[in-house]
Amino acid sequence: MSSLRIEGVGKSFGELEVLRDLELAVEPGEFAVVIGPSGSGKSTLFNLVSGLDRPTTGRVLVEGEPAGVESGKVAYMPQKDLLFPWRTVLDNTALGLEAQGVGKKEARRRADALFADFGLDGFQKAYPSQLSGGMRQRAALLRTVVLERPVLLLDEPFGALDSLTRTEMQLWLAGMWQRHRWTVVLVTHDIREAVLLADTVHVLSPRPATIVDRVEVPLARPRGADDF
Ligand code: ADP
Ligand code: MG
Repeated sequence: MSSLRIEGVGKSFGELEVLRDLELAVEPGEFAVVIGPSGSGKSTLFNLVSGLDRPTTGRVLVEGEPAGVESGKVAYMPQKDLLFPWRTVLDNTALGLEAQGVGKKEARRRADALFADFGLDGFQKAYPSQLSGGMRQRAALLRTVVLERPVLLLDEPFGALDSLTRTEMQLWLAGMWQRHRWTVVLVTHDIREAVLLADTVHVLSPRPATIVDRVEVPLARPRGADDF
């Protein structure tokens, strides 16, 4: 069964037709990148996959079930996934679990267990302002991954970083994916990011956006975590 199937999805906001007849399938363990220019409807698409919004036409299936916030199948890192500046990094990373009903102590224990893997060990009690931009993005990703949901949606996760840090973070994410084999859908307008990270690149047309090409990029895939 596909992790994600988007079947004939259209989305309009009043007169504005953003998505039209969009088709996409993502298999378990696949790193899919959807690429399109700003304003093409990438975040709109993620709102449909996460169940925050509903398509005007077509349907979205996650592991065979209609997408819905309550289904608990999708972990969504929104485009502006800001950490709360007045809470510690550990508190911030435990928030998502707490929001889904996990007790505070258990939520912190589970988040804390990932700190070393995310290169954040020792920063549990720090505040977000004490972290570098790359570390803040890793903390936001940790907050999403710790939910242990079958599908990870990453909305331009490195878009706000300077180009050197962005490259560093792209290599880091490629290494993490190599080890964990998450099922990921990442949207970006950065072609280099797409080629570096993706198993499959899905190209959006200008509005109304639909997927006009699907490219497999096996050669871009590093052969092992040691490559990093
Ligand atoms: P992207 O993420 O690719 O930059 P978005 O999905 O954020 O693009 O937006 C696509 C288009 O849909 C834009 O023109 C945006 O203004 C419009 N849009 C997004 N959300 C809404 C909404 N809730 N109501 C009206 N228009 C919206
Ligand atoms: Mg967007």
